[in-house]
Amino acid sequence: MGLKHVLEKGKKEIRIGDVEIGKNFTIVAGPCAVESKNQLLETALFVKANGAHLLRAMVFKPRSSPYSFQGLGIDGLKVVKEVKEKVDIPVVIEVLDPRDVWQVDGVADVIQVGARNMQNFTLLKEVGRTRKPVILKRGLSATIEEWLNAAEYVMSEGNLEVILCERGIRTFVTETRFTLDLASVPVLKKLSDLPVIVDPSHAAGSRDLVKPLSKASKAIGSDGLMVEVHPDPEHALSDNKQQLTFDMFKELMLELNKL
Ligand code: PEP
Ligand code: MN
Repeated sequence: MGLKHVLEKGKKEIRIGDVEIGKNFTIVAGPCAVESKNQLLETALFVKANGAHLLRAMVFKPRSSPYSFQGLGIDGLKVVKEVKEKVDIPVVIEVLDPRDVWQVDGVADVIQVGARNMQNFTLLKEVGRTRKPVILKRGLSATIEEWLNAAEYVMSEGNLEVILCERGIRTFVTETRFTLDLASVPVLKKLSDLPVIVDPSHAAGSRDLVKPLSKASKAIGSDGLMVEVHPDPEHALSDNKQQLTFDMFKELMLELNKL
């Protein structure tokens, strides 16, 4: 069978430090991109104090235009390491290039493969050779079968800790950046044991929609959320329309805890 690892060996619960994804509702929060040490430190302290379990700490950014901010790159890993140790919070780092996997592995607690790389099979296999949990985001136009096959690529290399992340797909709807396919959560739960989280930020494309989509994601049975938070979102170097302010994140966490 094509999905033998996904179907037979998938881990239901994945431990990252004190956090158990698949058991406790897990919040991954942080900026779209690491811009400076102060920006990451300030955000890390705030999101941790307000209940986030993991910090987004992205140093390689997959941007639609080659002239947009590309992230701090390898130099950014030093910043991430310092902030992670100072704040004592596990970090999620996206990797774009198979050649960077092992350097990222040196700092990351969780490695992310983003939507645009969901079918980068060389990258999936290299990440599969690490022993760090992997957040695998759904491709922009990926079917659920293609997504699970991407998970199989990682797992077939021996890394069984894959967390799926629904982040919206391309449809004819133009009022949101992508269409958040929340039905994928119960569908995936029926098909496999892998934990499923939801990223409402990239799906919505605007910060005012993040709260309702987050609540719906929790209500439908997801294992957690990934949300973008920035100290000064309007002036962020990427995704400035969708990142939450600190106040909005605090409010979101209070509302989620009531559910
Ligand atoms: C991200 O999470 O930083 C990101 C780029 O998201 P996506 O791959 O879902 O577009
Ligand atoms: Mn972003």
